[in-house]
Amino acid sequence: MQKLRRKFFRLIGFSCLSVFLLPFNLIHSATKKIINQNLTKEQKEIMFNEATEKPNSSYLNHENRKGFFHCANCGVKLFSSNAKFDSGTGWPSFTESLPGAFKTKIDYSFGIKRTEYHCANCGVHHGHVFDDGPGSTGKRFCNNGLCLIFKPEY
Ligand SMILES: [Zn+2]
Repeated sequence: MQKLRRKFFRLIGFSCLSVFLLPFNLIHSATKKIINQNLTKEQKEIMFNEATEKPNSSYLNHENRKGFFHCANCGVKLFSSNAKFDSGTGWPSFTESLPGAFKTKIDYSFGIKRTEYHCANCGVHHGHVFDDGPGSTGKRFCNNGLCLIFKPEY
């Protein structure tokens, strides 16, 4: 019973938040367009409505081969496998993107100030970048695995 109640309130919370954020999403999504016609509902929810996939749900967390991570919508190269590291957060993480791969904007959703980044080519949302990364860049690109396609290089 309590579980059901919690579910109900969570649903109401999300609904209110979506209604509140709708005008912002509409403005933002005007610049994005679907290029890959085979995107799943989940992928669209992340890329066009800035949802976040469940942590530890992406198989790319365990992808350690050499290669490049491409945008799942438009296909451009975004990250090199050289920049990938295990952040322990449950999302594929990178210390740097390829030059010019992303554009950023400040995101105030959930009352937290974060830097959101989106594909510079097609405009879809990919994740958030934080200043607590390892190495010389000090950055941590926290990317939704569903927004990426990995292509190994042999
Ligand atoms: Zn793209």
